[in-house]
Amino acid sequence: MQLRCFDTKCATKLDLHAPALACPTCGELLEVDMDFSAIDAPALKALWSERRKSRDVRDISGVWRYREFLPAYPANEIVSIGEGNTPLVRGRKTAEWAGVSDLQFKHLGWNPTGCFKDLGMTVGMTEAVHTGAKVVACASTGNTAASLAAYAARAGVIGRVYLPAGQVSLNKLAQALDFGAEVVEIEGSFDDALNTLLEKTNEGIYFLNSINPFRIEGQKTTMFELLDQLNWKAPDYLVVPGGNLGNSAAFAKAFDELLRFGFIDKLPRMIVVQAAGANPLAQLWRRGVDELIPVDEPETIATAIRIGNPRSWKKSLRGVRTTGGQVLDVTDEEISEAKAVIGRDGIGCEPASAATLAGLRKLRANNTIPSDASVVAILTGHALKDTNFIIRSHQREEAHAH
Ligand SMILES: *Cc1c(COP(=O)(O)O)cnc(C)c1O
Repeated sequence: MQLRCFDTKCATKLDLHAPALACPTCGELLEVDMDFSAIDAPALKALWSERRKSRDVRDISGVWRYREFLPAYPANEIVSIGEGNTPLVRGRKTAEWAGVSDLQFKHLGWNPTGCFKDLGMTVGMTEAVHTGAKVVACASTGNTAASLAAYAARAGVIGRVYLPAGQVSLNKLAQALDFGAEVVEIEGSFDDALNTLLEKTNEGIYFLNSINPFRIEGQKTTMFELLDQLNWKAPDYLVVPGGNLGNSAAFAKAFDELLRFGFIDKLPRMIVVQAAGANPLAQLWRRGVDELIPVDEPETIATAIRIGNPRSWKKSLRGVRTTGGQVLDVTDEEISEAKAVIGRDGIGCEPASAATLAGLRKLRANNTIPSDASVVAILTGHALKDTNFIIRSHQREEAHAH
């Protein structure tokens, strides 16, 4: 097992635990290159089912249960809080609102810290500790910070989070503080916070942003768990919100591996939905070109996807293309409306997650998706991640009513 450059023409290979953030030859992102010589799909499907009855910490985790597809670590080194194991839930009002008959949500907001970042963080933190890290850090719009803080606390290392000042939901900031992280506020956007962090390459810090290929490996297991829940039958469409595009990049890697080793025989079309004010990939898609132009001042109420220069765009785009999917954007009004409908189904989510339902409705409205298609929408964060947003929108409704 090793690290390899994501650019297949460059194809530079590095030691699996090399402390590299990017390809030393060409600067492209890295990915984990597995040795799959011993993969036996039917046997693994049975083993993974069997593990659901086990008491082993690794089997209880919805990430490490699929560890044949993850880098290997001694069992006692694994930093886990029982992440994963999130249900598939149907929404009656949401399906009606979007105009589809078969809609299920995979709610990643029901993870230990309330969002999917935990799925990547358990692997990233395990790798950090394995390589002897004492200080781990990330830039974040809030959720990565909360997740890093929790897993750093579990691992007994110092967690440091770089946040765009005044742009992070208080609920997420409160989590980072509760878990004992050092909070550094940066003037500007998430992109500025990430640039500030990435300059600190020789301060002995282990970086845990989503460009870290180990986080991608952990997030990849979302698709293993989803397809396991669907008896290895892919839905027609998978809808996911896009910010830094790490999650859709991870799903793309999962699809590639699951198809290649015969776990599934068909891929879902992956639909990536961005916010209209932070939509560089959607713009690229509409123009039909191959070069991403960053959005200088990203703006959206969905703060988790308020990102102008997504680092994992090439990985995400490759996944959209190989699955025959597409990229689109939705307005803040559409996101708010979709979020309210998800709430009224008794499910709830944070604003960024609701971009999926808003995007789905849009694709139904212009008949890109047939009404009888099977659809799984990824909800990325818990409703309690941004309570101020909920209270404010209800105050506005009140004001309109009077
Ligand atoms: C991080 C995050 C996203 C965006 O995911 P990317 O991997 O950056 O595209 C979307 N929703 C929520 C709730 C998040 O925390």
